[in-house]
Amino acid sequence: MSPDDRTQSLRAADKRYLWHPFTQMREWLDDEPLIIESAEGCRLFDTDGNAYLDGVASLWCNVHGHRHPRLDAALTQQVSKVSHSTLLGLSNPPAIELAERLISIVPDGLSRVFYSENGASAVEAALKIAYQYWRNLGEDKKTRFVALDLAYHGDTLGAVSVGGIDIYHAAYRPLLFDVLRAPTPYVYRSSLVRGDPEGCRDACLARLEAILEAHYDEVAAVIVEPLVQGAAGIIVHPDGYLSGVRDLCDRYGTLLICDEVATGFGKTARMFACQHESVMPDLLVLGKGITGGYLPLSATLTTEEVFEAFLGPYEEMKTFFHGHTYSGNPLACAVALANLDVFEEEKTLEALPDKARVLASSLAKFEDHPNVGDIRQKGLMAGVELVRDKLSQAPFDVSERVAWRVSKNARNHGVIVRPLGDVLVFMPPLAISKEEIQELVGAVYESLCEILPP
Ligand code: PMP
Repeated sequence: MSPDDRTQSLRAADKRYLWHPFTQMREWLDDEPLIIESAEGCRLFDTDGNAYLDGVASLWCNVHGHRHPRLDAALTQQVSKVSHSTLLGLSNPPAIELAERLISIVPDGLSRVFYSENGASAVEAALKIAYQYWRNLGEDKKTRFVALDLAYHGDTLGAVSVGGIDIYHAAYRPLLFDVLRAPTPYVYRSSLVRGDPEGCRDACLARLEAILEAHYDEVAAVIVEPLVQGAAGIIVHPDGYLSGVRDLCDRYGTLLICDEVATGFGKTARMFACQHESVMPDLLVLGKGITGGYLPLSATLTTEEVFEAFLGPYEEMKTFFHGHTYSGNPLACAVALANLDVFEEEKTLEALPDKARVLASSLAKFEDHPNVGDIRQKGLMAGVELVRDKLSQAPFDVSERVAWRVSKNARNHGVIVRPLGDVLVFMPPLAISKEEIQELVGAVYESLCEILPP
């Protein structure tokens, strides 16, 4: 079969049998899907042999590049021992060693690791632990959560309950638990204080404080995506917002859950976003980059204080009755350990400030485009928000799908990116070179100019 025939036959079978996530399948069925066969470093190769820069790190999770020899070797070495054994009633070396390593790199004070398999499940575990923590302490009234507008924490129902993005979440409201909603410090569009980072931060913190003041006796936890709300369109919070949230949680006696599924493992140029503001959450949620983007694994970390509230005689029913079949999967944990080794061996974090500067200077070319309203960046996470009218900040009509068309067209320039609403997203693997960053941003800019000529 020629490569072309093979691609056609795979496309036909894809359209016949698959249902893709977050995808309007009517559109997909009318399209010619790109099928990725292999990868190397920061490039993906399709079944026809075309190369594309992986501009969003295969959905924000690849860290050191694809087919990294250390990660590949860790996987095959572990395969030769055992691929899966359960953490229910048993333990395994990679799960133990990874827990110890994680505790050594997260903010001081976090001391326990609970594994799940994806970000949403680790968020569910965090929510249930926070709720049950208070229950185990006899504080039965503390059952509610505070979450931010435009929050995204995954697609299971607890995670959707704390989510705040209407197009993804509104349809499910009748199935969800009620959440106290605090405004997000979205400086570009805030309805409280617009365009002034500090004013916006202070106004949002004041609103959060008002909520906690009125409801502190019923709030189990506040959940935030620290520093960057990824899925909302790479909304970068003003400096000091996260530490302000931490102070309020302390003052009003509630737990803080930081969901670092997107921001963790170097994406903001520190290992964890919390570390920019020296914040220790009571619960830290990790996923995506934990295995370098190789295998599904996530973790919910917590303090000894929270952990100890679950200890007691079995019949007191303080146990955390929660878990997943592949929790602490040895293959995933072995690769996650190699991921952390590579951070050290390649001094990955040390190279990031420079790479972030190159990303910022490359993005500067977007500034003068008449349809670019806002450019936001933290480390190697960046978003360019497109608008119909720069002055009024009026958005495009949803049906125009401009960022989608720009991102799709970028494939013709050799890069894969996936937008969020009207926001063009850049979140390459940390291993990307400075030249590749320029290539990535340049390709998307050219694509934008073709779709929306300046
Ligand atoms: N939390 C955040 C902040 C995320 O960005 C995501 C995924 N983009 C999730 C949770 C859910 O992770 P998963 O898709 O692995 O369930």
